[in-house]
Amino acid sequence: MATLSRLARIPVEEVKTFGGSRGRELRKAGIVSVADLLMHVPRTYIDRSRSTPIAEAPLDTEVTVIGRVHSLDSRRVRKNLVIVEATITDGVSRLKAIWFNQTYRERQLATDSEVALSGKIERFRGRLQMKSPAVDVLSSPSEALNTGRIVPIHPSVGSVTPGYMRRGIHNALRRSRPIPDPVPEPILRRAEVMDRDRAFSLIHFPDDLSEVRDARRRLVFDEFFRLELALAMHKKRQELAATGITHRPDGSLTRRFLAGLPYRLTPAQERVLDEIRRDLERPQPMHRLLQGEVGSGKTVVAVAALLAGIEGGYQGAVMAPTEVLAEQHYLGITRLFVEAGMAAEPVGEGASLGMESLFAGERKPGVSVALLTGTRAVLSNHPGAGRREVIEAIRTGDAQLVVGTHALIQEGVEFHRLGVAVVDEQHRFGVGQRVDLKAKGSGVDPDLLIMTATPIPRTLSMTLYGDLDVSVIDELPPGRTPIETIALPWSRQDEAWDLIRREVSKGRQAFVVCPLVDDSPKVEVSSATAEYERLQEILDGVRVGLIHGQLPPADKEAVMAAFRDGEIDVLVSTTVIEVGIDVPNSTVMVIEDADRFGLSQLHQLRGRVGRGRHPGTCILIADPTTEEGEQRLAAMVRTNDGFDLATVDLQIRGQGTVFGKRQSGMTDLKIADILTDFDVLEIARNEAFALVGADPELERYPDLREEVEVMMGDAVAWLVTEARA
Ligand code: ADP
Ligand code: MG
Repeated sequence: MATLSRLARIPVEEVKTFGGSRGRELRKAGIVSVADLLMHVPRTYIDRSRSTPIAEAPLDTEVTVIGRVHSLDSRRVRKNLVIVEATITDGVSRLKAIWFNQTYRERQLATDSEVALSGKIERFRGRLQMKSPAVDVLSSPSEALNTGRIVPIHPSVGSVTPGYMRRGIHNALRRSRPIPDPVPEPILRRAEVMDRDRAFSLIHFPDDLSEVRDARRRLVFDEFFRLELALAMHKKRQELAATGITHRPDGSLTRRFLAGLPYRLTPAQERVLDEIRRDLERPQPMHRLLQGEVGSGKTVVAVAALLAGIEGGYQGAVMAPTEVLAEQHYLGITRLFVEAGMAAEPVGEGASLGMESLFAGERKPGVSVALLTGTRAVLSNHPGAGRREVIEAIRTGDAQLVVGTHALIQEGVEFHRLGVAVVDEQHRFGVGQRVDLKAKGSGVDPDLLIMTATPIPRTLSMTLYGDLDVSVIDELPPGRTPIETIALPWSRQDEAWDLIRREVSKGRQAFVVCPLVDDSPKVEVSSATAEYERLQEILDGVRVGLIHGQLPPADKEAVMAAFRDGEIDVLVSTTVIEVGIDVPNSTVMVIEDADRFGLSQLHQLRGRVGRGRHPGTCILIADPTTEEGEQRLAAMVRTNDGFDLATVDLQIRGQGTVFGKRQSGMTDLKIADILTDFDVLEIARNEAFALVGADPELERYPDLREEVEVMMGDAVAWLVTEARA
């Protein structure tokens, strides 16, 4: 009898079968402990009672037959062709199996071993044969098959074949069972999962295939439950350790701001703003992820949240990933404040030229906004301010709302009283600067809102972002027309340019995005430049501009401004525009070699059009060279729904690649699959958070606590801290 956490500390080499080099091979493949071994579950099962006797198997139909290898032979028939032949007998009849150029079959099969062959039987010159059947070795020659009717086929690891695997796991189970269950009984009942000991026994050696599903469900539950417990405990500890701010917004600024908007918030925006407000009023610091499609109106909600903090005398900060985007936030926010009559009045030189006259008689205190990036420093109420003065205003609190790039977290920038911080991640996958911005709160942790336009399927936000609260703006403001998406081969590219000409003649604007070539920014720039020149000829009479990442910031901003002001009709760019350009007059997005882009990137780019009154079109020009590329294009044409696309992305790429850097925490998912086991994930998450809510350190469940510590310790620390630092 041994708990799973104890088994997690017993080296796999202690299992008799794996004492020598096989143990080393397992260890190399990450099967380090007996617990790892028990979680190495069969990839399939062969039900021997269901296999067909060779003589009775129908011809030319997929069947599985079981027999012993009677003879084995290989010969080279031509320079490039080796044929391996085996004769199999089930005691009554014989069958010849043939493989072409699969010489490893000779090593896999030994005379007298018992095998299951799957494939189609055909009759050839009066004899039965199977060409290139799939093989599962059930037992090696000397081995009696002690596993009953149903034979588990475990994934082999190096030279450790399913036969050895089966034997080793059998040994390990015999010595470990019964495996006690640390999960409280009521939780098991609600989750509708079986006892742990039974689950391990049945997944490896079922008496009946119908038991396997339920056994697996229990093990999947355990994996998710451990992960979610770890995340819940981490979150709880963070809350207890942090000194947060109990904001007491009086509504004075927020009300004016919202009343000044030329539109009403959508119900989704209202709901999310409520969720954020409740967080702000709690003493614990907020850690909230705000998700919403591009153009769903996240920014307005974020500004309202910042104003709630400012009402109570704190500062707010918005950090954007690029200068262009920071600049745009600054312009957008100050414009909204002017419209709402709440811009701080200019002081200092140039003040008399400012906008105060517009609001003469209004005399309400305004909100001062600062912009700080690597190259720009601006203070809304102090037109003449230089960089030093802007930094000083942030330090004294004169700058109430600060917009910027990473420059905000550089040395030398100090906040007076940072109360609410918004990190605009846009399309980026990851919660990068969170830790650093927190440190700016001078002893207290500001409330933190992370905005992302990457639709993160709930599967991921429950695991990867498991310690964050999540708000979703799941509807677009009214009046948007859906974007039409068309995929064109290069041979029909003219259709794209024709559309652009037509739209420009109606006064609309367009983007043309060139792909990143060879992962080289330099080559990328030259190819975008060449494309710019080519399009100037094709689109004769249309004003074409060019923007790319290597332009000096001032030039970049000038091009952007010209495009915003309608002085450029078509903007040719590298992917720099991906992040947050808001030009409602643009209606066409052409993406060249679109098959080379990731789905989330394509979706972000598409979101740049159709933001205004006019319907948008997205044209994907590509001659896809891979199946994945083709799948991505098809998905783009099929749906505009970002969450849908994100799930497709997960399917195409597999969860490992999507997790990327964070994979390490996730590779601990040995059995569960976040896509197909989503229902179990949800239950495990709810139960874990409820349990930790009542008992933060699981003091009443020491076995469970030990299991989480032993099996999840590093993974979770890594998942929630380093990955984001
Ligand atoms: P996001 O940050 O989510 O990409 P924005 O906040 O930039 O979206 O909003 C996109 C556009 O929609 C902006 O021009 C904004 O003024 C407008 N907008 C936001 N909320 C609403 C609403 N409730 N009704 C109408 N327009 C809205
Ligand atoms: Mg708070």
